[in-house]
Amino acid sequence: MEGYCMIKVAFFDTKPYDKIYFDSLKEEYGIEIEYFESKLSPRTAVMAKGAKAVIAFVNDEVGKETISVLKENGVEIIAMRCAGYNNVDLAAAKDVMPVVRVPEYSPHAVAEHALALLLTLVRKTHKAYIRTRDFNFSLNGFVGFDLHGKTLGVIGTGKIGMAFIEICRGIGMNVIAYDPYPSQGFLEYVPLEELFARSDVISLHCPLTSETYHIINNYSLKMMKDKVFILNTSRGALIDSEALIDGIKSGKVGGAGLDVYEEESEFFYEDFSESILKDDVLSRLIMMPNVLITSHQAFLTHEALKRIAEITLGNIRDYFDGQPLDNEIVAKKKIII
Ligand code: NAD
Repeated sequence: MEGYCMIKVAFFDTKPYDKIYFDSLKEEYGIEIEYFESKLSPRTAVMAKGAKAVIAFVNDEVGKETISVLKENGVEIIAMRCAGYNNVDLAAAKDVMPVVRVPEYSPHAVAEHALALLLTLVRKTHKAYIRTRDFNFSLNGFVGFDLHGKTLGVIGTGKIGMAFIEICRGIGMNVIAYDPYPSQGFLEYVPLEELFARSDVISLHCPLTSETYHIINNYSLKMMKDKVFILNTSRGALIDSEALIDGIKSGKVGGAGLDVYEEESEFFYEDFSESILKDDVLSRLIMMPNVLITSHQAFLTHEALKRIAEITLGNIRDYFDGQPLDNEIVAKKKIII
């Protein structure tokens, strides 16, 4: 673009849908992009040589070694094209290079996906779809329940949590919530133990931190109602997967809708349909009839992808234009993993 000095950027873990949105906007921001399909890691960071910025995603390894290789190769800024940043070593990046992110692109995209998981599990439409395609019109095994009048417990009442609450209130659910930083005056906040005990459906919308790691575990599951439904569209390691499997086997958990999985980085976004999945925990979860797994796709809407591209490119442009970095990540608490 006229008047702009072009900035060279290395883009990691590229998928075809990323390119559509970033390519449509890059010239407007004076940015030249080299796309790599590889994930960013200590081994691949050297591919960024010649670029001034890198664009990374949720399952890239943005640890100390990666940051050091990026720095050696002339990279000045890391732009995460996502909201969560538990995969970034902020302590290692401090004083080396800024890390920016997209704090909000479409909380509705994620909240609506959480609803899709919930409704599918409760009304078994995923099974009905397969059954009717086989001309089997039997309803046996399809009895669901009304969500109207049930209690939803939301952990984390930020942007996505609140969007999900708004939707669920619309279908007549009673909502209770837990957040150590409550900010919504018109919500019934309760201690975590009470939320576990009272909820028919629990939905996780908090970040992954040292405090929230395995917030769903054997101990917390014991406090829950029998046949509780658990939704996780946040980060996989909020749930101890082995404990969840035990909960499902014992009947404590009535259903689980998971868009994230604690060991997802090796598998999600890739096609393993021609191979044997080497993760037994993930395989067991997938095979359970009342578990629905999607591969970290809650963000994947046209609106969200467009906003992600705009904000990410804007963050990089601001840095090179010497503008304040409104979306810089400043660590408030220890982020793990
Ligand atoms: P946000 O920052 O607006 O809200 C997070 C909320 O969690 C805040 O209100 C915060 O106070 C609360 N919180 C912090 N520590 C907590 C704790 N110990 N217990 C309970 N609550 C706690 O973030 P957001 O935009 O609503 O996103 C929420 C999470 O969703 C992100 O951290 C990210 O991991 C995940 N996410 C997933 C996808 C996806 O595609 N599946 C997309 C975007 C975001």
